[in-house]
Amino acid sequence: MTSVQRVFVPSVTEENGAATGLGVFSSEETAWTVLRQFLRKSHIMNLKQADVVIWDIDIVGDDGMTVLATMHCRECPVCKRKTFWLDLDNFSAMCTGQACEAWIEESTIEPGKIDYGWPPTRFLKQAETIEDALAEFRILSAELEAAGNTPDYPITSFQVE
Ligand SMILES: [Zn+2]
Repeated sequence: MTSVQRVFVPSVTEENGAATGLGVFSSEETAWTVLRQFLRKSHIMNLKQADVVIWDIDIVGDDGMTVLATMHCRECPVCKRKTFWLDLDNFSAMCTGQACEAWIEESTIEPGKIDYGWPPTRFLKQAETIEDALAEFRILSAELEAAGNTPDYPITSFQVE
């Protein structure tokens, strides 16, 4: 029998504590795609957390539940919008703001090191810790502002979806 044994459930939580489920999916990949799509709206919502939870079918109680990932929403160190999703368990972060997409990830080549980048200028560097990467991003942000390139126009003109 090839029935579904476990399902993947992405959800988001607003600052006021209200949680919204985004659906129940049979594949982890689909759950992530749905969640990432939704997080693109971060700048127009007041979100504080996002989770992907695995539920095993036919198990009573919360023994059937495994939290796969928890991400927290912070102000982006580069574009300053509240669109920066940080996953401290997996050492990764990604800004979902338009025209920003600053990211941080543990290096796949040198585990323990942190890779980080900012696609608009193909900025790519390596740091020892997430804190170091965040500090470098703030410097980058200050340089962009000094150069008059502040990407702050999307802050005042929200995209209509
Ligand atoms: Zn950003």
